[in-house]
Amino acid sequence: ADRQPGPIAWLLLVLQFMVYPQVLYLLTRRLPQQRQRQVEVRNMLLDALGFGLWCSFLGLPLWITFTMYIGVSMNLLVFESFRGWVQATLCMALGIAVMQGLHPTPWQADTSLLTTGLSMFTLGLYILAFAYDAYLRATSLHRHRAQLRQQLEANHRLQTQLTELALRDPLTGLYNRRHLDETMQLQLQRCAVMGSGAAVLLLDIDHFKQINDRHGHAVGDQLLQTLAQLLLRNCRAGDTACRYGGDEFLLLLTEVTLDAALARAQQLRQDFAVQQLRVEGPSLSTTLSCGLALFPAHGTEPARLIQRADQALYQAKLHGRNAVVVFEHHLETCTDGAK
Ligand code: GH3
Ligand code: MG
Repeated sequence: ADRQPGPIAWLLLVLQFMVYPQVLYLLTRRLPQQRQRQVEVRNMLLDALGFGLWCSFLGLPLWITFTMYIGVSMNLLVFESFRGWVQATLCMALGIAVMQGLHPTPWQADTSLLTTGLSMFTLGLYILAFAYDAYLRATSLHRHRAQLRQQLEANHRLQTQLTELALRDPLTGLYNRRHLDETMQLQLQRCAVMGSGAAVLLLDIDHFKQINDRHGHAVGDQLLQTLAQLLLRNCRAGDTACRYGGDEFLLLLTEVTLDAALARAQQLRQDFAVQQLRVEGPSLSTTLSCGLALFPAHGTEPARLIQRADQALYQAKLHGRNAVVVFEHHLETCTDGAK
C-alpha cells in the first residue's frame, strides 16, 4: 500500500495469494498422496519465484523480502532437505532478476512501521504454526511408537505362550514328546560333561483301557491328571516329566545313580497305587508299571535309552504289572513286597 502499485498489481496480488492456493488445494485434494506431495513441492517453488517477482517489483523492502524468503526456505527445507532450500533460493533469486529486467526498481529497503510490524507478526505466526505442527507430529509419533512397543510386547508374550503351549500336553499340563525331543539330548550332554548319570523312567498305567471302559473317558482323563500331578510333585530341579503318549509318561532324572533312580521309581509306583480317585460309587485305585534305563550304562542317545526303558517296561507288564524293571536286569522285577 505504501508503494501505490496500481489496481492491476492489487488484482494479481489477490489472485496469487488468496485465489491460487485455494484453487490448487481443491484440484490436488483428490490426487494420490505421493502425487499431492510432488504438486505441493512444485507449487512451493513457483511461490518462491512469485515472491522474488513481487519483492523485486516493490524495490526489495527488507522485512517483506526477509519474511518471504524465510517462508519458502522453511517450506522446502521441510519437504526436500537442503536441496529444497537451495532450489527455493535459486527460484526466488530468479524472480528478483526477471523483475529487475522487466521493471527495474531502485532499492527501497525501509518500510513503514505498520508494514514492518505486520511482517514480523506474520513471520512469527508462521514460525509458531510450524513449531506447533512439529509438536503435533512428534507427539503423534511418540504415541504410535508406544502403541507399537505395546503391540510388540503383546506379540512377544503371545509367542512365548504359543511356544509353551506347543510344548505342553493340554490334558495334564506336562511337557510333550516334542519338548523331550528338543531338550533330552542337551540334558544328557550336560550329564556327560559333569560325569553324572541320568535315568529314563517310562511309566504306564496298568489296565487303563478297562478304566476307560468301566468308568468312562472322563474318569480315565482324571486318572491321567492324577498321575501327572504325582510326577510333578516328585520332580526335582533338573528332572523332566512328560506325557509320552496315551497313558505312558516319561520321567528324565538327571544326576542320579541307579539305586537312587530305582528308589524314586519304586516310591512313585507305591504312591500311585495308594492314590484313590473319587468317582461315583466305590473309590478307584490302580497301579502302574515302570521301565528304567540308565545313562550312560544302557545308552547315550535319547532314542536308544527310551527304547531300552520301553523294553524294560514290557518286561514289567509281562511279569504281572505294578512293577519297576531295570533294563539290564530283566529278572530284577520289583513288585510290591519284592525288592
Ligand atoms: P496295559 O496294562 O498293558 O498298559 O493295558 P492298558 O489297558 O493300559 O493298555 P494301553 O496302555 O495300551 O492302553 C492305553 C489306552 O489309553 C488306550 C486309549 O484308549 C487310552 N487313552 C489314550 N489317550 C487317552 C486320553 O487322553 N484319555 C483317556 N481317557 N484315555 C486315553
Ligand atoms: Mg497302559
